Amino acid sequence: MASNAYDLINPSTGAVFQTVELASVEQTDEAIGRAKAAFPGWRDLAPATRAGLLLDFAAAVGNQLEDLAQLEVRNAGHTIGNARWEAGNVAAVLRYYAAAPERLFGRQIPVPGGLNVTFREPLGVVGIIVPWNFPMPIAAWGFAPALAAGNTVVLKPAELTPLTALRLAELAHSVGIPSDVFQVLPGAGQVVGQRFVTHPDVRKVVFTGSTAVGKQIATGCADQVKRFTLELGGKNANIVFADADIEKAAATAPYGVFDNAGQDCCARSRILVQRSVYDRFLELLEPAVKGVRVEEPLSETAEMGPLISAAQRTRVESYVDSSRVAFTGSCPDGDGFWFPPTVLLSESDDPAWNQEVFGPVVSVRPFETEAEAIALANDTEYGLSGSIWTRDVGRALRVSRGVEAGNLSVNSHSAVRYWTPFGGFKQSGLGRELGPDALDGFTEVKNVFISTEE
Ligand code: NAP
Ligand code: MG
Repeated sequence: MASNAYDLINPSTGAVFQTVELASVEQTDEAIGRAKAAFPGWRDLAPATRAGLLLDFAAAVGNQLEDLAQLEVRNAGHTIGNARWEAGNVAAVLRYYAAAPERLFGRQIPVPGGLNVTFREPLGVVGIIVPWNFPMPIAAWGFAPALAAGNTVVLKPAELTPLTALRLAELAHSVGIPSDVFQVLPGAGQVVGQRFVTHPDVRKVVFTGSTAVGKQIATGCADQVKRFTLELGGKNANIVFADADIEKAAATAPYGVFDNAGQDCCARSRILVQRSVYDRFLELLEPAVKGVRVEEPLSETAEMGPLISAAQRTRVESYVDSSRVAFTGSCPDGDGFWFPPTVLLSESDDPAWNQEVFGPVVSVRPFETEAEAIALANDTEYGLSGSIWTRDVGRALRVSRGVEAGNLSVNSHSAVRYWTPFGGFKQSGLGRELGPDALDGFTEVKNVFISTEE
């Protein structure tokens, strides 16, 4: 066995099931060189040809949806229902951005003495660094718009979860997307990911992961004025006002935070409840939390699976101070990395209240006024998502405008929609993915003036 073989562990059993080879710096440099050489050919394809290849790629993903989902269950412990949604999301994102090559419009701007037009030029080689929490969607949110805009892509999956990204690259190549246009390189963050930052031929880094590493990426990119997009952590509030549908708010709150075992930067891990309905809300929340089905992830009825790793479970456990536990749900015992849904009654000095737990742990606190709710929601360095429950449309809008976060939902905990922009305020990130906005992050505007003087 080669020295850089890496063991993959099934999170629901704790057992090694496969090994992958991790790429070295030299292999990363070679891949970047091939991606650079492939760039002009990909950029210069007729727009409809590039669109057609992306549609074929989407169809290939659609045909392999169940296999991709099963692979993710094994590698990441996601519930089979979630994993099917995630594979479907890759196909949908590819279809959405397949429309882009033929619609990358510039502008014609009135000027005296000539014609002024703008072009949206691709950047060149784009390096995408993906975390383990949503291996398929987060990869696709990078590679689909990047490829559509005419860039070539080198992508590093998380060490823990490389298998679906490798399979997606095979599917891309099977429909005729050149192998040097889209390359997946399993490897360590400090080797392959770091090389994306330092290699001068990588023109942009797309990073999703921890805020600590995101800051290092930003610092490293500054040296070459390299473009970057960051999608980092979140400490997101679910604000429940007394005038809301309290039954519905309580019944849905667990799914707003415990989906993917809470390993979601959009998890609503702070529940703020107006004092007059606080006791009633907790009464309703308890059966809702106990009703969350934490099961073997291949079970069709599973609503939550295990955590990604033993290390992540240890980290999550460290946030649970038993004196603050209000109630918990249940989970299987066995060798997987199981952790039960857990509800804490937190004070403002509680680490679980202040830090991203990235596990199935939620903190509940009462508030008195609308202003206090907004202040509590904003009392964090993060600003990614949040939910607002009220029947008062004016309040819904005031609070939506008051919460400093990039993605809010009223009377729901809507998942990210691929055709709307997604990204963070404050230390939750920089730049926007998805929707029409993502293409701005994968193109440069070029202005050309053509004189009409004789
Ligand atoms: P992480 O270290 O930020 O990892 C994210 C990705 O960055 C992985 O592919 C990782 O590679 C890579 N990476 C690590 N160090 C790097 C470096 N110096 N240069 C370039 N790339 C690098 O996150 P983590 O350690 O997996 O998770 C820690 C915590 O981060 C979580 O508990 C959670 O709070 C947060 N997190 C947030 C998100 C999100 O969606 N915003 C996702 C994941 C984690 P390796 O696989 O080799 O480490
Ligand atoms: Mg890390």
